[in-house]
Amino acid sequence: MDRAAVDPRGQRRRSDLTLQFRITFRIPGARGPSVTQTVDLLAIAAHRDDAELTCGGTLAKAARAGHGVGILDLTQGEAGTRGDAGLRAAEAERAAKVLGVAVRLNAGLPDAHLQNDEPSRARLVELIRATHPRVVILPFPVGRHPDHRIASELGRDACYLAGLAKYGAAGAPHRPFKVLYALAYREDPVKPSFVVDISDTFETKLEAIRCYASQFDGARAAGEIFPTGQNLYELIRVQSAHYGSLIRKAYGEPFFCNETLEVQDVLQLGVQSL
Ligand SMILES: [Zn+2]
Repeated sequence: MDRAAVDPRGQRRRSDLTLQFRITFRIPGARGPSVTQTVDLLAIAAHRDDAELTCGGTLAKAARAGHGVGILDLTQGEAGTRGDAGLRAAEAERAAKVLGVAVRLNAGLPDAHLQNDEPSRARLVELIRATHPRVVILPFPVGRHPDHRIASELGRDACYLAGLAKYGAAGAPHRPFKVLYALAYREDPVKPSFVVDISDTFETKLEAIRCYASQFDGARAAGEIFPTGQNLYELIRVQSAHYGSLIRKAYGEPFFCNETLEVQDVLQLGVQSL
């Protein structure tokens, strides 16, 4: 990420604070690990493996930089064509370890039936308050799979509601500072707001994706993300190289955010123009 494009001072302070005062506690009603800790960066995704595919390199990079990183999968993948929920849970745990992700939670919402309804928002508010992220990565709001679209809207609404003191859910009010949308693999003509250089973590991203053997071994398509029928790992490499080329780096992951990004010093701007 172009350090001049965000507020690195604020991020650094938040990270130090989290590392010093990590808190563990139980999240009532949450499936998966019952004890968690606060994180700096939280990726919220509809299905196990979505986060690895859309922002795995960015998560690994943030973890390597010393930030607390978490993934919140909304469903357990019980409606998937390949594998079952138990197998996908084990795969997800292995992938999280590869990425260096400290916390991986599962909201236990119904796969292929996600809804942005009150019980789902309350569950997410609880988990966002518990993990206390400064930055949240969501799926892009447009997508072929209804779960992806709804996960985006549900995640965004829950981030806002988590900050309301009188919203009826467990935990102290907390509203994430920044919401980013993972843009990888979208066909919409949306120019990324920025691209994260994942050259140093690209192989780690691939290794994490390979943990999902039940989904990808021998597969020639992966739903919305890779519908072309070509070799999946080769496609990931080509697409990541394309986004990397936009910032003159080997590999990159694109993101969109609604706000205008701030620059303090134009002389620190990266990416050569001419
Ligand atoms: Zn998905």
